Amino acid sequence: MQNLIKQNLISLGADLVGFSKLDSSPILDQPNLVYAITVAVKLPDAVLKTIMERPSQQYFHEYRTANALLDRITFLGARLIENNGYSAFPIAASQSTSDDKSSYKAIFPHKTGALLSGLGFIGKSGLFISTKFGSKIRLATILTDMPLNPELPIIKNGCGDCKECERACPGGAISGIPYEIGMKRDDFFSAEKCSRNMKNYKDVGRGAVCGICIKVCPYNRLK
Ligand code: SF4
Ligand code: SF4
Repeated sequence: MQNLIKQNLISLGADLVGFSKLDSSPILDQPNLVYAITVAVKLPDAVLKTIMERPSQQYFHEYRTANALLDRITFLGARLIENNGYSAFPIAASQSTSDDKSSYKAIFPHKTGALLSGLGFIGKSGLFISTKFGSKIRLATILTDMPLNPELPIIKNGCGDCKECERACPGGAISGIPYEIGMKRDDFFSAEKCSRNMKNYKDVGRGAVCGICIKVCPYNRLK
């Protein structure tokens, strides 16, 4: 069944699919949703190269297109899981309707599932860095009660001595402290400073994107 789901998600357009088991369900009153399917869609290199000292309109457009594709993939994937007798809860690629807007937190951080699935690691930039495509991806998740087995070991960290994103971030959001498993985001990355900087680009996506830390990360091989 796991392989069938994976092949189906890939046929719908997923570039990466990973599986993990969570400590507990993030959904209130649905404690059985403890398995996560992580889906990633890659952003085009040529478009990411248009990010210079600020985001480009082309980047914002592809960012939204990737989110829409992910939402379609997870919607259809959840339907397939339900048709096979299990519960499935798609989590949108961009969770701008979190219950607690002031803390910049989502219902379920896609990075948590992605990390536990072994598809990559969390960088100093706070971005999920996949071993295959670096951070030039967008993520979404399906939570389910269908038993799943992670296929890859967890990767603790891969940033080493690199400081590219810390140096490049115009908002001072990246502290340079390497992420360690179990750390809270605020311990190494300021979502508030990142969000405040994005407001400087109101002419691009009403101030909801930046992308400079994606552009400079050596794992993305964009230079
Ligand atoms: S998106 Fe921009 S402001 Fe936010 S951390 Fe990355 S470089 Fe800094
Ligand atoms: S730019 Fe360097 S430090 Fe930042 S996330 Fe990428 S590898 Fe890690």
